[in-house]
Formats: sequence, structure tokens, C-alpha cells
Amino acid sequence: MGRAFVYVIVGGGVAAGYAALEFTKRGVPPGELCIISEEPVAPYERPALSKGYLLPEDLIKCSFDSVIENKTKINYQKLENAPARLPSFHTCVGANQERLTPKWYNEHGIELVLGTRVKSADVRRKTLVTATGETISYKILIIATGARALKLEEFGLSGSDAENVCYLRDLADANRLVNVMKSCSGGNAVVIGGGYIGMECAASLVINKINVTMVFPEAHCMARLFTPKIASYYEEYYKSKGVKFVKGTVLLSFDMDSNGKVVAVNLRDGNRLPTDMVVVGIGIRPNTSLFEGQLTLEKGGIKVTGRLQSSNSSVYAVGDVAAFPLKLLGETRRLEHVDSARKSAKHAVAAIMEPDKTDEFDYLPFFYSRVFTLSWQFYGDNVGEVVHYGNFSGTTFGAYWVNKGRLVGSFLEGGTKEEYEAIAKATRLQPVVEDLAELETQGLGFALAV
Ligand code: FAD
Ligand code: NDP
Repeated sequence: MGRAFVYVIVGGGVAAGYAALEFTKRGVPPGELCIISEEPVAPYERPALSKGYLLPEDLIKCSFDSVIENKTKINYQKLENAPARLPSFHTCVGANQERLTPKWYNEHGIELVLGTRVKSADVRRKTLVTATGETISYKILIIATGARALKLEEFGLSGSDAENVCYLRDLADANRLVNVMKSCSGGNAVVIGGGYIGMECAASLVINKINVTMVFPEAHCMARLFTPKIASYYEEYYKSKGVKFVKGTVLLSFDMDSNGKVVAVNLRDGNRLPTDMVVVGIGIRPNTSLFEGQLTLEKGGIKVTGRLQSSNSSVYAVGDVAAFPLKLLGETRRLEHVDSARKSAKHAVAAIMEPDKTDEFDYLPFFYSRVFTLSWQFYGDNVGEVVHYGNFSGTTFGAYWVNKGRLVGSFLEGGTKEEYEAIAKATRLQPVVEDLAELETQGLGFALAV
């Protein structure tokens, strides 16, 4: 015998946390909701792991030292820059909402089953079986299993088990990365992959006084989103911080010492990079395996409707694992970003609890990153012709994407809150753009005037 709940969420990451908050806002009675998570902690804001979590501790130390030595007041600015640690970044602080600690779940009668992997699911019988052998049944299931980091082994390489090779997806990975970084201070790191993890980890490694070489197959960083001109700005900035780039090639093998530690990285172009540690960020795969053969899949994820409902009407999917219709673009997409996880989760709960009052999910894609003192936001879709604007040798610049005569995507580095809101609004409205040269001249002013 096992337990039975009205609502079960499988996966305890960002989407699960935001779904839980929405359930309570909509008055779910105590005892009806259960969250099952493989991770040993309550849902947290995953983006912190590549940013605040990786800040060096000496920032705290130096502020306390200055208190002791100079008998000065505590430097709160520096304390704010101290590394983020739980419970400070449990969901839903990332969206300026309540912080859902384990106590909060308890007070709201939400069952948190932590450190427990669901090992099988039967959507016909509406049951899940956990790794501890318990059967948990549901009336409605929300799949929020997110994704896992792709391993080098999946590209025919080996070495992921080496103690100084790091991936970054969850808290355990982040703790490992922090420990490896501490043991390499002043040393060298090779970062494999020029995407989000590569860029954000490279910046964090530099802040931790580690010399970084980035290796990736494309001609420039963030190739799926950035134009060569945008990428060049960030690469130059990284170079000014000492980062080296080896582009257009991939990892061939690692040289190991007798303790199984990587001491050098061999690249396909013949380069050999001696190193003290390696960080790998080569993409993710959605965690769909529990449901393969039971639910319809698309774009590597679980296909859902505009109500986030899968091919089985009792099962919903949200966050990284869901492939949902993007009304604005007229196609199904799977997004791997936190805003989409938060909003899809909220929308699914609305569709479950108040189906008659809930429209189709109408989402504007939103991606962002923060590295060093830089900060950018992107809205919409990066297709069509690109118009760059602003000062690429200064601190504020951007780009618009124009497809079939309409604005469909906007990027901005170094904007103010109002400016980001303006590009978001303009992108959602998809105004007609008649003259690209005029758009370039108007720059940010175009979005501000929409
Ligand atoms: P996740 O948050 O990954 O949660 C999935 C959960 O399900 C995990 O706890 C996992 O252990 C659990 N799980 C999986 N399978 C099972 C199972 N069988 N049984 C039980 N539990 C299971 N996005 C941005 O937009 N901006 C950023 O700055 C940003 N930074 C990021 C930094 C890092 C280091 C990472 C890894 C991601 C970042 N992202 C960022 C992406 C963002 O965090 C994800 O899009 C978001 O976490 C997706 O939420 P989710 O709930 O779908 O999945
Ligand atoms: P990305 O998909 O962003 O980037 C992967 C990078 O690795 C690409 O440059 C890719 O090139 C490259 N690559 C692929 N295979 C190899 C290989 N064999 N050798 C070397 N490079 C390779 O994934 P990440 O791992 O960076 O990020 C993981 C997830 O975390 C994503 O879902 C991302 O959205 C999320 N994340 C988001 C952040 C944000 O939004 N700010 C921050 C951190 C993480 P190619 O394109 O040619 O495949």
C-alpha cells in the first residue's frame, strides 16, 4: 500500500516551487498536494548556482576582517556579495515572491518527499513508484522533472568521473565545483562549451582567481542566440579579464595523473592545454524517460497543449521538460529558462484549479544572463534580419530581429528596468518595421516609443 494525493508534482526544482505557491494561492486544502524530488532540499532558484553560489568566500572574510581590524562598520555592500547559500534562495525569491522554506510546505500541508527518485510511472493507473519502493497515486500529475546535463561520454569521450571534472546542474554539482575551485586557486581551468554554463562559469572562475581557457566548436560564444557582433563584445570583455578562447574545435581526450586527476586537455586541433580543473557545459537533455511510450513527445520534451496538458488528460508538464505551443510564434517550443519554468508552472495550476477561467498559455520567451558587471536580456525569437544599435564600445547596446517585416526579437545589454520593460512590450506587440536603417538610427528609442 502507498499514499494517495489529489495532486502530485514529480520533480522538485524551479517549476515545482512556483506551482506549489500557485496551488496555495488558489486554496488547495492541506494534504492534497505532494512533491517528490530526487534532490535532498526543497525547491530552489537554480540560476543562483552559476552566479551567487560560486562567489568566493573571501568577500565575506574581508568584510569581517575589516570590522575586526579597523573597528569600522560592517560593509553591507560586500556582505551582499557573499556567496548565496540555502535557505536564502529557495523559490520563489527569484520572482520577488515568498520564500518557500521546508517550514512553509509543512505549514501549508504540502507533502515534500525529498531525496527520492521516482523510478517508474504508470499514467493509465495513475501511479508512481519511488526508488524506496513506495507507490504514490494521484488524480492529477504535474511533470516537472527538468533536465540533466549532457555527459562527455554521450559524445564518445571519457573522463567525467575524474575528481576535477565538473558539471553544473544541481546543488551537489555546485558544492563539488566550489570545492574543486578552492583547491585550484591561482591555477588553470578549461571550460568546455560556449553556452550559458560555459560563459557564466568562466566568469565565476575568474572571480575566484583561476585562469580560464574556454573551448567550443562554434566560431563565437553563445552561438544559438548571439550574433557575431554581440558575441565579439562579450569575448573582448572576457579577454580583458584574462580569459583565453580556443574556438572551432572540441575535446579529444584528457591526460590523467596516477590519481585519476585530469592534468591536460587534448583538443582535436592538436592543442594540448595543461589544466588543474575542467568545467563541462555542453547542453542538456530533458528528463522524459519515465513517460516515454506513455505520453506524446515533441522537440525532445513532453508535448502539451496551451493548458500545459499532455496527451493524457490527467497529466500536465511544465518547465524545461515541456514542449508547449508558443502562440506568439505559432509553433511548439521547449524552452530551457527559468522565467518559462515559473510561468508555465503557474499557468498549469490555474488550468487545473480553475479550468473555466484559464485561457491558453500565451508566453513571450525571455532569457537573461549576468556575468561580471554585465547584464543582458532577450525577448522573443532570434530569426530574420538583425539590426544592431547603441554603443558597442560602451556599456549599453542591443539588437532587434525583424522577420517578415515585423519586430520579433530584442536584445539589450546594460539597460534600465524601464528600458527592458520597453523592449519586452515592443517585442510582444510585434510592430511593423518598414525601414531597417531607420530602426538602427532610432535604436532603443524605437522600443521606448512603441
Ligand atoms: P529543474 O529546476 O531542473 O528541476 C527538476 C527537478 O526534478 C530536479 O530537482 C530534479 O532532481 C528532479 N527530478 C528529475 N527527475 C526526477 C525523478 N525521476 N524523480 C524525482 N525527481 C526528479 N535560466 C535562466 O533563465 N536564467 C539563468 O540565469 C539561469 N541560470 C541557470 C544556471 C544553472 C547552473 C542552471 C543549471 C540552469 C540555469 N537556468 C537559468 C535554467 C533554469 O534553471 C531552468 O530552466 C529551470 O531550473 C527549469 O526548471 P524545472 O523545474 O523545469 O527543472
Ligand atoms: P547550451 O546549450 O547553452 O550550450 C552548450 C554549448 O556546448 C554550446 O556552445 C554547444 O555547441 C557546445 N557543445 C556541444 N557539444 C560539445 C562538445 N562535444 N564539445 C564542446 N562543446 C560542445 O548548454 P549549457 O550546458 O551551457 O547550459 C545547460 C542548461 O542550463 C541550458 O538549458 C541553459 O539554458 C541553462 N542555463 C541557462 C542560463 C541562463 O539562462 N542564464 C545560465 C546557465 C545555464 P553547439 O551549439 O554547437 O551544440
